[in-house]
Amino acid sequence: MPFKSSQRDILLPRDLTTWEWLFESDTYSPIARYPEHELGGYTNAITKEKLNWREVKEAATYVSTALVKKYGLKEGDTVALFSQNTVWYPIAMHATLRVGGKVSGASPAYNVEEMTYALQKADAKFLMTHPNSMGVATVAAKNAGIPRENVFLLEGELDGTTTIKDLLAVGKMESQQAPVYHIPKGKTNFDICGFLSFSSGTTGLPKAVMIAHSNVIAQCLQVYQITPPDLNRVLAVLPSFHITGLVHALHLPVLVNAEVIMLPSFDMKSMLDTVVEYQIKELLLVPPILIRMVRDPIVDKYDLSHLRRFSSGAAPLSEEILQLLKAKFPQTGFKQGYGMTESCSCITAHPPTLYDYKYAHAVGTICASTTVKIMKEDGTEGGVGEPGEILAKGPQIVMGYLNNEKATRESFDADGYLHTGDQGVIDENGLITITDRIKEMIKVKGIGVAPAELEDLLLGHEKVEDVAVLGIKDEYSGELPKSYIVLKRGHEASPETGRELMAYVRERKVRHKAVKEVEFCEEIPKSASGKILRRMLRDKSRSGESGG
Ligand code: AMP
Repeated sequence: MPFKSSQRDILLPRDLTTWEWLFESDTYSPIARYPEHELGGYTNAITKEKLNWREVKEAATYVSTALVKKYGLKEGDTVALFSQNTVWYPIAMHATLRVGGKVSGASPAYNVEEMTYALQKADAKFLMTHPNSMGVATVAAKNAGIPRENVFLLEGELDGTTTIKDLLAVGKMESQQAPVYHIPKGKTNFDICGFLSFSSGTTGLPKAVMIAHSNVIAQCLQVYQITPPDLNRVLAVLPSFHITGLVHALHLPVLVNAEVIMLPSFDMKSMLDTVVEYQIKELLLVPPILIRMVRDPIVDKYDLSHLRRFSSGAAPLSEEILQLLKAKFPQTGFKQGYGMTESCSCITAHPPTLYDYKYAHAVGTICASTTVKIMKEDGTEGGVGEPGEILAKGPQIVMGYLNNEKATRESFDADGYLHTGDQGVIDENGLITITDRIKEMIKVKGIGVAPAELEDLLLGHEKVEDVAVLGIKDEYSGELPKSYIVLKRGHEASPETGRELMAYVRERKVRHKAVKEVEFCEEIPKSASGKILRRMLRDKSRSGESGG
């Protein structure tokens, strides 16, 4: 029997887009529920630029009008957002959704090849970027067939490039604003994709995950139900392109009417300055930053006694770090969220009653309106205390992968449950603990890296006959890619060749995909159908058997 959430079901409006829900609905929109002077909004922590929810609505309305009337954006078109965090990122996002477009976020660290792939896979028609990413954006847009005039700047100015503020001015001049997109008759918000995020899922290359309007609304309502009333300010330090930032920093705070304090990029000093300046009470971080909270001496220069709790997600956190956090910040509670891009963030999370380091080893209890199955290796459902693969079903589970029915089909079981590729166990109180990751994905600083992507690249190297890439443990990053290489005849398995191969990857991929270690071997273990037997390699490497 599947495990059910013990929380009350959410009441999900099925006829609203995220835009209508957050900015037009009398029931949900903060604009309808709060007077102007109490409205939260998006604030840039460094420049102090701020737009409250009413100003966000106004700006997004004008921008969407310009996109539709002057640049021909149509329902279903994809707008790619390729930028560090800025208050204009969510404006562009809401503007696109207002008129029925789709938003696709990409890591601002991507190089030309990676960005071209992301634009092509998401079938992007428009690209909004930042001066820091303009060089890559221009070439990638050209490669993906996006006309130069459809590339805009979210911030700053560059000769010859239209900025989002120009779009705003164009829209403002129009006598009639572009109409708000409504869910067509006979459909619900489960049928309409609003977001495309990238994930490799349980296997293969990164794919564009289709996230419906309903998924984001449902996830916000699920989390809202377990959000304490003291959440008045949210620090947006995690990137907006990742599902955690997209939901917890860009959407949920609108519903909660909180103030989002956005940090353009991460560094300890500006994060800590901001935490103190804005007296941020809850810190949503990924494990590498939490590690720095206990290890980096800069933290000791700050009075953080106002902190109430830490929130962690995206990757596991060790017991040792949890204990150090508790000792260093004894006044804090702790919570986790567990999920994936394909579950639009959380499948489980800690409710306020469990904000305690006593429960911090676990990833919380099942979110409202969600059921979970634990499938044992023998293919039967596990009960309490029996580890197995976690499968989940609920309104936050996404539609599937764009233009990839096969991968979509394979991600769900016959009852419509999503395979997470994570192994876990549930206890008698409904607390789930993650015990292993059985899918291919490697998590570097909380960001997913697809081994298949690095294997494809390394196979293109003239000396490489065969390759397999696996994650190896790293104290700070969580995991780092390691490659097992079979060399072509006549090439020497030397440290120098190893360095050459690592440099080959480093020159072609974003930094977090860099290979940490190369090990040469005689052959890559494979199944009869040619699939890499990763588990065998991993077990071998864990037992220290493999030589090199
Ligand atoms: P992504 O799609 O990038 O969000 O990656 C999802 C994967 O990150 C999950 O399938 C897990 O393997 C891992 N993950 C997410 N949250 C946690 C957590 N709280 N603890 C351990 N692993 C996590």
